[in-house]
Amino acid sequence: MASTKTKERPKPFLFPQFCKACGRCISACPKDCIEMGTEIHPATGFTPVVLDLEVCNGCGLCLSACPEPYGLMPAPADVDLELLEPETLLGERGSTAPTPEPIPDVRVPLPELETMILKGTHASAVGAILAGCRHFFGYPITPSTEGAELLAKLLPQLDGVFVQAVSEVATVNMIYGCGGAGLRCMTFTSSPGFSLMLEGISYMIGSEVPGVFFDVMRGGPGLGNIGPEQGDIKLACRGLGHGNTHAVVLAPSTPQEMLDLTMNAFDLAFKYRNPVILVSDGYLGQMTGRVQLPSYMIKPGLPEWAVHGDEAHRGNLICSIFLSEADLEQHNIHLLEKYDQIIHDEQRADLFHCEDAEWVIVASNTPARMAKGAVQQLRDRGVKVGLFRPITLWPFPIDALTRPLQRASGLIVVEAGAGQLEDELRLAASHAGIQDIPPIHRVSHYGGVLPQQQEIVDTVTALAGGIV
Ligand code: SF4
Ligand code: SF4
Repeated sequence: MASTKTKERPKPFLFPQFCKACGRCISACPKDCIEMGTEIHPATGFTPVVLDLEVCNGCGLCLSACPEPYGLMPAPADVDLELLEPETLLGERGSTAPTPEPIPDVRVPLPELETMILKGTHASAVGAILAGCRHFFGYPITPSTEGAELLAKLLPQLDGVFVQAVSEVATVNMIYGCGGAGLRCMTFTSSPGFSLMLEGISYMIGSEVPGVFFDVMRGGPGLGNIGPEQGDIKLACRGLGHGNTHAVVLAPSTPQEMLDLTMNAFDLAFKYRNPVILVSDGYLGQMTGRVQLPSYMIKPGLPEWAVHGDEAHRGNLICSIFLSEADLEQHNIHLLEKYDQIIHDEQRADLFHCEDAEWVIVASNTPARMAKGAVQQLRDRGVKVGLFRPITLWPFPIDALTRPLQRASGLIVVEAGAGQLEDELRLAASHAGIQDIPPIHRVSHYGGVLPQQQEIVDTVTALAGGIV
């Protein structure tokens, strides 16, 4: 005789630490057995749902609704659920997966090519491709758009991905995800767009995710105009979102450097697991110049920490949340040690006639080009003047400036902005314990107006004692 006893359907069970609090199970349950919890789980920062299964009929709808692989599951029979540990039910985390090993980058030799004439943003886009970048996310904004435009044409032909996001906020979060997967990715943007990305950059720094941000600076504040300015130096060097944030900031001055430093930016981003910011200005973005391609390109590997979605990397987790105060302090100490190493190892500068200079001009980006012309003009007249061009704005290359500072009667900061480069210089000197900096003079313009060679010559001439 057939048994009339029906098998009881299992009720749902949840390890709260695996709940992402999406609420889908709440909507799915016809018996209102599930409600949103009120307590934050210390391991995740989420508020897991709470189950009250008195009237649960085991329909299983919540199990089907839960998108988490280790989320709601059928409760095992004959087990004290109060004492159940995840390892008992699910096995050791990652126990069957091989330990991820880093796959190193490979330098692929390139045939020698003739010098090309390229626009600055195009040179940077070519540099990104040669550096192994196959993922671009961005939102168009003048005067940076041409770089994105070229990548939109080239990346699909290289099995790459080009996504025009709905906004700069979406862009930075796509870069966060792509960089977290261990892939080389970038964006082009300009000042107002860069401002919108700062929160996401803070998350990337907190999570130690690499990515390259190319900011073609334009006139501000606000929408300003599309002329060249250097008004984002403060943001790039001191204002990368909330918290204890820093990133290497590279300042190209020629189309050749737009290519070289873009390639370099990817290496630095992955070396330090940190975003890297390139800042140029509206002129450099549009300016054409001779560009020599390098003798190699990069075939990127894959870092062992990547959340890559394959078996080997499934145990990896990237996040910037540390709910325990002690843990977050330790994380900040770790970040500070990383910043110290960057300050020690990555300062870069170009010195032109600084060896005997009595007057040292400090300038970067397009203003450095006018300053270089002024130095040549003044040297022809016998004025001992030199140009100190920081290539890294953070870390400011103060070590290379120490000797010129000892000899100089004065510094002249030439800037398309209201003193942000000068502030970096002063801060770097202060942090380096340099007490006696010579008087600092300025030649600056704003709103898209650039300092001109002749006014730099006139300023230095006046400082040097008049007509020479
Ligand atoms: S099994 Fe059905 S009744 Fe029970 S909690 Fe899930 S959805 Fe609700
Ligand atoms: S569906 Fe799963 S992850 Fe979402 S709240 Fe419910 S248990 Fe949590």
